[in-house]
Amino acid sequence: MSVLKVCIVASEMMPYAKTGGLADVTGALGRELAGRGHELRAFVPYYDSIRAQALQIEAVPQVQAVPVEIGALRLSFSLLAHRTATPGLTVYFVDCPKLYSRGTLYTRDPDEHVRFILFTRAVIEACQRLKFAPDVFHCNDWHTAFLPLYLKSVYAWDRLFAGARSVLTIHNIGYQGEFSAARVGDLGLGASQTLLHQDDLRAGRINPLKMGILFADALTTVSPTYAVEIRTTELGMGMQSALAVRADSFTGILNGVDYEQWDPRVDPYLSNHFHLADLRGKMRNKRRLIERCGLQVGTATPLLAMVTRLAEQKGIDLLFESLPALLVERPLALTVLGSGDARYVRFFEELAMRFAGRVAFRQGYDEPMAHLIEAGSDIFLMPSRYEPCGLNQMYSLRYGTVPIVRKTGGLADSVRHFDPASGQGTGVVFQHYDAPAVRWALNTALDWYADQRLWRRIMRNAMAQDFSWKRQVLEYEHLYRSLHSPASVTQR
Ligand code: ADP
Repeated sequence: MSVLKVCIVASEMMPYAKTGGLADVTGALGRELAGRGHELRAFVPYYDSIRAQALQIEAVPQVQAVPVEIGALRLSFSLLAHRTATPGLTVYFVDCPKLYSRGTLYTRDPDEHVRFILFTRAVIEACQRLKFAPDVFHCNDWHTAFLPLYLKSVYAWDRLFAGARSVLTIHNIGYQGEFSAARVGDLGLGASQTLLHQDDLRAGRINPLKMGILFADALTTVSPTYAVEIRTTELGMGMQSALAVRADSFTGILNGVDYEQWDPRVDPYLSNHFHLADLRGKMRNKRRLIERCGLQVGTATPLLAMVTRLAEQKGIDLLFESLPALLVERPLALTVLGSGDARYVRFFEELAMRFAGRVAFRQGYDEPMAHLIEAGSDIFLMPSRYEPCGLNQMYSLRYGTVPIVRKTGGLADSVRHFDPASGQGTGVVFQHYDAPAVRWALNTALDWYADQRLWRRIMRNAMAQDFSWKRQVLEYEHLYRSLHSPASVTQR
């Protein structure tokens, strides 16, 4: 099989910059594809948080102080290269301090679109100067979604990209990067401006994600169920019509798990490892977690956990009523790690005060703590309103931390409701997005937990699941190759 040259273009990538699952996916995809012998080059903005990591990087001599005009702005960027420990994978950082030294990866600044237009153009300009002709540009989310359109317009003259195909992966359709049509000049499309969505322009907006959906050669999202859901009015967030147009080029590929990081047998953050046949380490982690969180409960008390962005998508509204009531009615403890919207922060802060010693809330982003929570708790709660893929439920399965999930997106594709009669299933799955449903799910989990023989069975089923990247990466490889098959070329 021939070697593929793949260019991953993303606003986040592990282990350099992360706010969510996107970083996990791009990091794992790069590593796994390179591990299969492909030539991988990934591009990420050089945020100040990456600069602070003092990585071994080199300036790329042929890509220094490259001028790019964005509207009236004259910007320039330089390229830095980081040769990773994975043979075949080079990570490039696009350096433009004016845009990427802002303290956070994303901002609400009025030039947010400029930050990622420059990034996208810089990737193409850099490939030109490196004389790198990718077989596939793999773009991710709205930040890089203009790349397919650029390839087919402003850069269409360049034969270097004659064989290049573009893939856009939608990690979360809720983030579209919309900006004002008054800034259309920032795109530098010239006469190709006619390719923009004209109804949107007339309505005064430009939607980067929509343009990616319309122009990428192939579209994916991060689970088969989410691929169906976002074609509906209910969950399509306005993109359903554009997706319908591209239905033949759109698939869902479930994310994988990086089991080098997220497996209780080898987890680099844990001092107590454990596995299916010997769960004593899990109990030690639970004891440690209880101590670290300042909880005043014994290890026999069921410990419920959440690690999450505190965003509306995550279904926390459902817990406003049900959690306080449950804490009054039943003996259980709760630990929550997360950051985000103030109203959810307030809810968990108040809950921790009201149920001191039984509820712990840690605000912030804390990778080691996330691992300890997965390892030390009994039940993991993800009542998401929608969930493109979700990773924590798959981590939870491997750690024997039984997930409670709502039947949506990747949660529906990775957790099966346990059936006590047959002994099959890996968690608690509820359907309706309402408080009674989540209350039923929580009570069901606690009832099962009370029967430790039954609980062990669910844990065993869960821990035996395999969601490794090894399998998923073959699906991406297959997709990339299909874009170069004779059938797909004649269609173009
Ligand atoms: P999303 O991308 O919507 O945030 P995912 O479940 O796909 O949700 O990915 C979330 C990732 O971010 C997981 O690896 C999870 O452990 C991690 N994470 C989320 N919030 C925190 C936090 N406060 N501290 C540490 N890790 C977090």
